[in-house]
Amino acid sequence: MKISEEIQSLKPYSTGKPIAETKREFGLDRVYKLASNENPLGPSPKVIEAIAAELENLHRYPDASFYELKEAFSEAYGFPQNWFTFGNGSNELIDLLIRVFCPPGHSVLTSENAFVAYGICTKAARVQFLTAPMSEDAMRFDLDEIYRVFSEQNASKNIRLIFIANPNNPTGGYVNKAELENFLEKMKDEKETLIILDEAYLEFVTASDFPKSLDLVKAYENVLLTRTMSKVHGLAGLRVGSLLGRPEYIELIDRVRNPFNVNSLAQTAAIVALNDHEYLQRVQKTNTEGLEYFYVELAKLEIRFWKSQANFLLFESPIDGQKLYNELLQRGVIVRPMPLKEDKTFIRMSVGTAEENQAAVKALQQILS
Ligand SMILES: *Cc1c(COP(=O)(O)O)cnc(C)c1O
Repeated sequence: MKISEEIQSLKPYSTGKPIAETKREFGLDRVYKLASNENPLGPSPKVIEAIAAELENLHRYPDASFYELKEAFSEAYGFPQNWFTFGNGSNELIDLLIRVFCPPGHSVLTSENAFVAYGICTKAARVQFLTAPMSEDAMRFDLDEIYRVFSEQNASKNIRLIFIANPNNPTGGYVNKAELENFLEKMKDEKETLIILDEAYLEFVTASDFPKSLDLVKAYENVLLTRTMSKVHGLAGLRVGSLLGRPEYIELIDRVRNPFNVNSLAQTAAIVALNDHEYLQRVQKTNTEGLEYFYVELAKLEIRFWKSQANFLLFESPIDGQKLYNELLQRGVIVRPMPLKEDKTFIRMSVGTAEENQAAVKALQQILS
């Protein structure tokens, strides 16, 4: 069988190395996984309790209409219920957005070094994937460059979707309010192009000039927003992502998605987690302290890093990146090498608990001394 070029160009997604495998391979008792931007505090006890109560209904199909989930999000966000739909993680929503809005022969545009799922889902749909350069030093989206590529190429490439990860993974950088508003203002009459704001890490943001995306979704007809329960809410294993946008777009996604894409435990958990403000604050505090600690310690080690608005940070490996990765593994610390440029290796390290962060720093000190 002839397999399309786009599919052949893909590689299976490589997740962080599993804890159990690392323990076995290196004979370690304790392994610190700082590879997948997971919440280090575990799920909220309130969520565990709610799921336990829901177990006896497992013989029922989940609610395909998301009745209670929509109600909870509508209340929390201040938008009507028909502005929401949900996915099996926001990853599925990215996939659906491309399948619904980008016929083959059209294109998706984002920044280079953006979240990897954009490229994977685009190619899987046999849609052309275009990227604009990042702003070099800051490792963040350059919206002027995105607009330039859009203006130059839209006529021939039919750019249907523009993904903006804010903050971006794996680089941790963000675009500010003025930059985003300026870009959306220039794009507002482009009725054939949707702009997707992906705020997977929104709740970790501390920058005071960060955009208010809910206002932007209200103001601009071609803007949609995805968020996730996987990061700050600690539910990566259950898979729930939300999509907010005008009902005419949401309704199209609902036609295509598998009706039972978000399982019943996940729906129950998401409702509880969304309103668990106490847990949220604990996670935010752990993260802010962890980032500050990394900034201080990496600076002492003279490692070049980029400040982050998320729950991870990107640094440039001062030695061969694969070697650094392996040496960290041997010491029980799992991180994620990022092949962002040919001549340098970057490492993405998630923020863990204070104990995990200290273990990572200690291992780096040993390796680099
Ligand atoms: C982690 C992440 C997501 C999605 O995660 P899901 O678990 O699929 O909800 C989306 N966007 C970015 C930028 C991410 O880093």
